[in-house]
Amino acid sequence: MIIESDLKLDFKDVLIRPKRSTLASRNDVDIRRTFRFLHGGSEWTGFPLIAANMDVVGTMAMARALSAFGAMTALHKHYPAEALVDFFRQEDTANVFYSLGTTETDYEKLRAVKSRAPVGKLCLDVANGYTEKFVQFVRRIRDENPDAVIMAGNVVTGDMTEALVLAGTDIIKVGIGPGSVCTTRKMTGVGYPQLSAIIECADAAHGLKGQVCADGGCTVPGDVSKAYGAGADFVMLGGMLAGHDECEGDIRYEERDGERVPVAMAFYGMSSDTAMKKYAGGVAAYRASEGKTVEVPYRGPVEGTMQEIMGGVRSMMTYIGATRLKEVPKRTTFIRVGSQLNTVFGA
Ligand code: 5GP
Repeated sequence: MIIESDLKLDFKDVLIRPKRSTLASRNDVDIRRTFRFLHGGSEWTGFPLIAANMDVVGTMAMARALSAFGAMTALHKHYPAEALVDFFRQEDTANVFYSLGTTETDYEKLRAVKSRAPVGKLCLDVANGYTEKFVQFVRRIRDENPDAVIMAGNVVTGDMTEALVLAGTDIIKVGIGPGSVCTTRKMTGVGYPQLSAIIECADAAHGLKGQVCADGGCTVPGDVSKAYGAGADFVMLGGMLAGHDECEGDIRYEERDGERVPVAMAFYGMSSDTAMKKYAGGVAAYRASEGKTVEVPYRGPVEGTMQEIMGGVRSMMTYIGATRLKEVPKRTTFIRVGSQLNTVFGA
């Protein structure tokens, strides 16, 4: 047994220190980034935010709405092949990932869809990206899809980030246990503080010219800013995008002044009982880890939330004097606050 005592931090443990700058307004900053992908070779420009491939938020309606902001969506993997073929044939899918797990059924479905429609971006998603089987699967998908942008994970350490980049991944998905409806930390004791995971994985990926996507744990726009500050190239959101019109999920209504108004929507982890029941016996395999079911307030169209997130990121950039999103990690100084200091000093 080994104990690592290096400091590891979560979003809540830090704030971003303001810096002197010449920027006058939020309008002076550019929140888009351009990436050339290491293996796929293609280029992409946009606001590097991705709706998670959870069946409530990774919807086709979400893809259309987020694309209008230059942001991306990883479609959930439970759409029937026919619906995916129609979508990838008919729509502009530059901002859309096709998601899959590692079962033969997932693999055959991808082949079937790809034989009939152009699919340029793939999200290979497993709860535990540390298995040799997963690395082999990434290799196999890369061999068969040399031009695709491949995002794969999840991992939380530099060694595995490097292994996945070398196996053919363009974007490493980072995060084990931070998700809002994830119970992995509670149920297994396994996890890694997300801010440190991003910092360490970004360092490893960037050294090999790969990118990272910070996946999970953002609860407010400030967390998205902190993720970019820590070196995330992309940020993936589940809970922050739940509760909107573009989601697929049961809505709860209440009578108010004689009117029936929507007040809340269901949101659940892809390994939760709810997801298991919904898809059990179907073609899909599940993430091996645990998840829970919650209710989130109904929030109308996702446009309002996107404006808030983008406004928060823009404002953070003016506080630290970063004109372009790419400059944010270089201009970020985190200061430690909150729980860890409280623990140390007994506050
Ligand atoms: P959020 O933005 O809600 O904090 O986190 C979203 C991420 O949580 C997803 O992209 C995915 O990586 C993770 N996630 C989704 N469902 C589950 C689940 O049932 N169990 C676990 N361990 N993680 C989940």
